[in-house]
Amino acid sequence: MLFDAHLHPETLSDLDLESLRAFGVERAVALGHHFPEPTSRGLREHFRDLLDVQLPRLERAGIRGYVALGVHPRAIPRRGLHDVLAGLPALFRGGRVVALGEIGFHRGGPDEEEALVEQLELARRLSLRVVLHTPALDKERWTRRLLALVRSHGPQPGRVLVEHASARTVPLILARGHWAGLTVNVGELTADRAVQLVRKLGSRRLTLGSDAGDRPGDLLGLPRAVHLLERAGLGRTLVAQLAFRNARRYFGVE
Ligand SMILES: [Zn+2]
Repeated sequence: MLFDAHLHPETLSDLDLESLRAFGVERAVALGHHFPEPTSRGLREHFRDLLDVQLPRLERAGIRGYVALGVHPRAIPRRGLHDVLAGLPALFRGGRVVALGEIGFHRGGPDEEEALVEQLELARRLSLRVVLHTPALDKERWTRRLLALVRSHGPQPGRVLVEHASARTVPLILARGHWAGLTVNVGELTADRAVQLVRKLGSRRLTLGSDAGDRPGDLLGLPRAVHLLERAGLGRTLVAQLAFRNARRYFGVE
C-alpha cells in the first residue's frame, strides 16, 4: 500500500494513473503546479481543475485523492495574486483540500519571496498545513532561507512539509520540527539513493513522493523505491511508515 505525497496528475494520462494503481499507489496528494503563462484567471482554473477533474480521475483509477492548493513559485501571476489568495479559504472547505502548496522558491528573488510570505501568513492565520518546494540549484541555501521565513511567518513546525529534500537538507528540516519529503524521480533522488538515505536517517517525519507529471521521468519511482526498501531488509514497520503511514499522518487523513 503506497501513499504518494507529491503528484501532478493533470499532465499524466489515464493509463499512467492506472499503472500507478497497479503498482500499489492507493492514495495521492495532487499539488498545485505551474503551467505556461500563469495569470490569476489561469490559477483559479487550475485549482478548479484539481478539485473537479483530477480528483474524480484519480478515483476512477482506484486512487483515493487529496488536493493541495497554492501558488507555485513558477506560477506567480503578474497581477492579481492577492485576489487569487483571497479566494483560497473557501476552497479549503469540504475535507479534500489537505494543505496549501506547493509554494516556495524556484529561482528566488523578491517576487517569489513576497508570494511565499503572503501564503505562509495565510497558512498561519488559518492553521493550514503547507507543502514547500525547494529548488534543485543551490538547494541548501534556499532551504535555509525558506526555513527562516517559515519560522517568522508560517504555521507551527509540525504542519510544514518541505519537499525535494536532499541528504544535506533533511537534517536541517527535521531539526526544526518539520516533515521532509523525499522526491523519488529522475534528476532528484534515485530509488537507490532514497534507500541509502533512509538507512542513515530512519523514517521519522519522512514522506515519499514521485513528483510524477512534473516532467518526463520515472512514473514508477515511488513503487521502485519502496520495493528496494523492502529488499534492503529495513523492516516492515519502517517501510510501512515511509510508504504510507507518515503521509497519512502528516496530511491528517487517517
Ligand atoms: Zn511538484
